[in-house]
Amino acid sequence: MQLEFSAEELQFRDEVRAWIDDAYDDELKTLMAQSKNGYLDKAGQVRWQKKLHARGWAAPNWPREYGGPGWTPAQRYIFQAETAAAGCPTVSPMGLKMVAPVIMKFGTPEQKARFLPPILSSDVWWCQGYSEPNSGSDLASLQMRADHGRDAQGEHYVLNGSKIWTTHAQWADWMFCLVRTGREARRQDGISFVLVDMRTPGITVSPLPTLDGPVPGQQEVNQVFFENVRVPVENRIGEEGMGWTYAKYLLEFERGGSHAPTLRQQLGKVARIAADQPGDGGGTVLDDPAFRRKLAELHLRAAALEAVELRIFSGVASGTSIGAASSMLKLVGTDTLQAISELAVEAAGPDALPFVQDTWAEVQGRPAAPRVGPDYAGPVAPRYFNYRKASIYAGSNEIQRNIIAKLVLGL
Ligand SMILES: Cc1cc2nc3c(=O)[nH]c(=O)nc-3n(C[C@H](O)[C@H](O)[C@H](O)COP(=O)(O)OP(=O)(O)OC[C@H]3O[C@@H](n4cnc5c(N)ncnc54)[C@H](O)[C@@H]3O)c2cc1C
Repeated sequence: MQLEFSAEELQFRDEVRAWIDDAYDDELKTLMAQSKNGYLDKAGQVRWQKKLHARGWAAPNWPREYGGPGWTPAQRYIFQAETAAAGCPTVSPMGLKMVAPVIMKFGTPEQKARFLPPILSSDVWWCQGYSEPNSGSDLASLQMRADHGRDAQGEHYVLNGSKIWTTHAQWADWMFCLVRTGREARRQDGISFVLVDMRTPGITVSPLPTLDGPVPGQQEVNQVFFENVRVPVENRIGEEGMGWTYAKYLLEFERGGSHAPTLRQQLGKVARIAADQPGDGGGTVLDDPAFRRKLAELHLRAAALEAVELRIFSGVASGTSIGAASSMLKLVGTDTLQAISELAVEAAGPDALPFVQDTWAEVQGRPAAPRVGPDYAGPVAPRYFNYRKASIYAGSNEIQRNIIAKLVLGL
């Protein structure tokens, strides 16, 4: 197992740093400073992702034949660590990291040629239609119907039902969607994986308010309703009834990835806030030994996670499959992320409060209260509320514990 970076890898790191210095410009930094969740509004996201695409770095995980950079696991780790350390925006995963690997592995040559290039260039945006109002953790219970039909334009499915918690559906041109095409005894057998053009008549996207308040341009989750939505059969991936297999393949990509670089970056922010806030004993919050102890504990958790991530990625480099480790990384990474967002609130103290009141002013029909407090405190409370989601999305942390219990402990 090799955990040290080689001279070439360190040179690559310098190349990435130099590119970030140039590409991550002041306009993007200003937008990111107010982001509640690491994403920008759609225009900002597109601008950032197109810069990555122009450099050939939009899709670190894609093989070279589809336009990926052909990086080693170590290069991918370095790239992720450097972009996180610099506080760059999170790349929207639904197209590049989620549906694209499924299309590459199970799609037809026509589907690959049609869908992959505009995902890579960020010209076409995707959303994920897995969860339904009564089907989240128990996803195989999903009910959205896809009935066969035939008309002058050809064979198709007719979709009826609804998907929920659909991230950025309001931005999406397409949805990859799990639908029920059969009523087999084993629920997983009746599921198919279809690609739906979001402009098809019969689709309604309805925003769901979240705890963090209505931050302009940052609407996150939606419910999407389908009423007699026509989807050509050629938009189905793979075989009918095999969608569960493709869906599970995709989840490996959704849960994989490293968290430690982001945690370190967020801890740096907390320390800067604490250094600027007056503490009880005359100094700053950062001078308070109890606060410093909490900060140090979180640094240790991030460092331990980083060591595990490096060990796992070193294994991946020599061909080991990530397996149940993706559940462990998701669990520890998101638990720690939430703990850091809690400590940020403690650091900012009452300065975090005006922003919460402001975001709700419009909904409550009253003029927004003038902001007081330093700018950095603005996103602290929305981030705290927003990150409650981290232990729920991509399979809740209780479900990850179940997976670990089964696959690692054999329970
Ligand atoms: C911010 C956000 C964005 C999301 N984006 C998307 C998206 O883009 N597309 C999409 O399809 N979905 C999305 N989701 C949905 C997400 O995948 C589900 O919320 C998640 O799978 C949990 O399902 P549920 O909400 O129905 O909760 P439930 O499954 O009803 O769970 C409720 C509680 O019970 C616990 N629980 C359930 N079953 C078990 C069990 N067997 N053992 C122990 N505990 C259990 C859960 O951990 C949870 O605490 C998103 C969710 C969030 C919060």
